[in-house]
Amino acid sequence: MTFQELGFAEPILRALKSRDYEIPTPIQAQAIPALMQGRDMIGIAQTGTGKTAAFALPILHALASKTPQRGARGPRALILAPTRELAIQIGEEMRSYAQHLRLFQTVIFGGVGHGNQIKALSRGVDIVIATPGRLLDHIQSRHVSLGAVEHLVLDEADRMLDMGFVHDVRRIVGGTPKARQTLLFSATMEGEVARLAAEFLTEPARVEV
Ligand code: AMP
Repeated sequence: MTFQELGFAEPILRALKSRDYEIPTPIQAQAIPALMQGRDMIGIAQTGTGKTAAFALPILHALASKTPQRGARGPRALILAPTRELAIQIGEEMRSYAQHLRLFQTVIFGGVGHGNQIKALSRGVDIVIATPGRLLDHIQSRHVSLGAVEHLVLDEADRMLDMGFVHDVRRIVGGTPKARQTLLFSATMEGEVARLAAEFLTEPARVEV
């Protein structure tokens, strides 16, 4: 299978070409068709499998293909990650896949000043990649609202729970529209992660590599 056969828009195919991606990795081959149909997904996969592109590419394709709802403000895609390092890495990857698309994104994490993040959010962004604690700060101080979120990703959900983010994650997800596409990635699907998945996902496709 090729990326072209998966149905991606031309600007995305060009970005993949410039990165020398020729064939989808196994998780991409399994996940992308279901995600392109708008399905929810549980992904049991480790870093290094190509999981970032597996969720990023279908989301970028959807954002580029559909015009936003009139009057909707705020990000259309939200990606939550446990650590600042992972959030930055996801942001860099998404930026490169979106290089030929007119989409704005920003990465939000704690341990730095609020000012630049507030500026970036107030300019208007299509995609937010964030760690839960700092994002919740910005929500509570009304620097961002999640009412326009169409695509939500919980990356490394097991680590987010281990790090004590469960309440923050619940509050953030609770502020997004019910009619959204939700993806949850985790190395395991036991205990609390399974409970969160049952709570947040609707008839998810299950992909395991
Ligand atoms: P990840 O599991 O998302 O951290 O990705 C692991 C690495 O694989 C990253 O450096 C990606 O740039 C790279 N990668 C992802 N998908 C492909 C692909 N289809 N072909 C070649 N490299 C890829």
